[in-house]
Amino acid sequence: MPNTKPDSLDLSPRPDDPTLRGLQAATDGWIRTVGVRYFSELTNLAQLTEEVGELARLISRTYGEQSFKESDKDRDLGEEMADVLWVLLCLANQTGVDLTEAFRARLEKKTLRDKDRHRNNPKLAI
Ligand SMILES: [Mg+2]
Repeated sequence: MPNTKPDSLDLSPRPDDPTLRGLQAATDGWIRTVGVRYFSELTNLAQLTEEVGELARLISRTYGEQSFKESDKDRDLGEEMADVLWVLLCLANQTGVDLTEAFRARLEKKTLRDKDRHRNNPKLAI
């Protein structure tokens, strides 16, 4: 079971990569032009749960012991992750959350809180 980033995944920044703020703006633009309006926060929370369930189902069948059903075989991990991100971006926009700032603050907090925790965890020894 892989527990590291595969070498095939190139995470080097590209000039045309959208920022997180850009993703929030693109989502808002799409909602306002194509989507008419945001679903309610409660509807989107239900949607988020549904999308996380779809992602869990695919991961369970890909990396866990569950076998694939015929209806699962065309599912794509990236698409399922993008579905989760999409609904999360909608919820951020309609609740006034700047995800760039929230992520920055969260990463700083995690770094301060966990700077030694994982390094000292014998279960993570390589
Ligand atoms: Mg989905």
